[in-house]
Amino acid sequence: MAAKSSSHPVTLIPGDGIGPEVVNAVKEVLAAAEVPIVWEERYAGAEVFKKGVGSGVLPETVESIRRTKCALKGPLETPVGYGEKSANVTLRKYFETYGNIRPVRELPGIRTPYSGRGIDFVVVRENVEDLYAGIEYLQTPGVAQALKIVTRKGSEKICRLAFELARAEGRKKVTCATKANILKITEGLFKRVFEEVSKDYPEIASDHQIVDNCAHQMVMRPEQFDVVVMTNMNGDILSDLASALIGGLGFAPSANLGEDAAIFEAVHGSAPQIAGKDMANPTALLSSAVLMLRHLGELKAAQTVENALLVTMEEGKVLTADMAGGGREPSGTKAYAKEVIKNLGAAPKSFPRREHKLLKMPVVSHAPTLVKAADRRPMGVDVFVETDMSPGVLGPKIEAAVRGLPLKLAQISNRGAKVYPNELGVESDPVDCARLRFKMTREGDALTDAVVMEVLSRVSSYAVWVHVEKLNKFDGQPAFTKDAGED
Ligand code: NAD
Repeated sequence: MAAKSSSHPVTLIPGDGIGPEVVNAVKEVLAAAEVPIVWEERYAGAEVFKKGVGSGVLPETVESIRRTKCALKGPLETPVGYGEKSANVTLRKYFETYGNIRPVRELPGIRTPYSGRGIDFVVVRENVEDLYAGIEYLQTPGVAQALKIVTRKGSEKICRLAFELARAEGRKKVTCATKANILKITEGLFKRVFEEVSKDYPEIASDHQIVDNCAHQMVMRPEQFDVVVMTNMNGDILSDLASALIGGLGFAPSANLGEDAAIFEAVHGSAPQIAGKDMANPTALLSSAVLMLRHLGELKAAQTVENALLVTMEEGKVLTADMAGGGREPSGTKAYAKEVIKNLGAAPKSFPRREHKLLKMPVVSHAPTLVKAADRRPMGVDVFVETDMSPGVLGPKIEAAVRGLPLKLAQISNRGAKVYPNELGVESDPVDCARLRFKMTREGDALTDAVVMEVLSRVSSYAVWVHVEKLNKFDGQPAFTKDAGED
């Protein structure tokens, strides 16, 4: 975290749709609060895509963030279509902002079905790995595949960040939510690392919930949560669910934290339907600016701005359209910002104060190899093939083709279910991508590249191979999952 200094340079990205309007509200409120910030306005998003920049982010924007190490951004539109990456994801990847922090706290004056329950937790979402590494393939024209990347290093960084955040905010418990019961290797790694890391924070309680149960619990009893840490996609989905508990997207702030830069933004998108109409609720971006001020060490200014925002909501004299209701007249974004400015210096009556300390970013080794296996044994190889041949016909052909090699065909599977040999007579609805699992005839024998290539060459007489995975045992543990129906 940056130390407190006399003036903070911050990159400001107005963004698309309602972005410039809510960004403007933040600029005005922070100026009125006399926060020492020097904005560097830079661009990313729709207009940049239109200029033909495929990443959606201008080089000068990247250069500015590299220098300031801190950015506040409006929402960026992602063109729907083939090939182009999201500018948001690009920024996260450029600056390895691996930690997405989304506070979820009941707000005064904002009526929801949960009002009075005292919801107050933080979702900590891993932000760069998992399915959002964005590695996808069509294996055949009709079979798509995405790689879910979960690493020891990425999991350790985010789990430590969750515990550090608990410490900085005086929170008592960190819950890890995973799908480790099904995805034993990827989500399982995340859970194991969480359990390991939790031992370094003995004063903070820790528990684990299966993520589907966690979704259920968040709706049934959200007040039980304090900090919840998750892999990227689970965190993406559940943090949006969580923001609905406290009033919706207009109120949900977020921080994207990395070792070299931090990017603060509202959770919501560019809301094109209301863009340019002075209708957007700037609370989410103002709350994101509060997170930014804490990050910059401006704890007092953060409190002043947050208090003004809370008083504005508590009094409810000036509301944007998404907050109005029950016969109350909505005002615009500009009037709302003016009211927040008027309330600078006031404190809310009903909102319990939370003490914040500076968040300590965890230090995790940058070595590419964090885990070494003392013993590594080849078990075989999986060859994915494009074929519409029935497994009962293909199986014997492949068995015969690899005869004489130190590998034999153990089974064929289709979409993760064993279809050959089909001892149980399982009915399946196959697709034209099958997995041939070859196992070493004698465990412990070496598996040379020449043998793998010979397998591929012989397989190609019957089917087109599209993807190969080596099967290993690391320290006695299989480094691959079994198929449904595999012994
Ligand atoms: P959205 O968040 O823009 O809108 C969803 C709904 O919430 C709409 O009804 C909208 O009017 C309302 N809403 C959102 N923010 C509001 C605010 N501050 N005040 C009042 N009402 C608000 O989501 P979407 O429609 O799915 O996405 C629109 C565009 O934004 C897409 O191009 C999407 O890719 C992009 N997007 C960007 C980000 C980001 O930059 N981080 C996040 C989400 C979506």
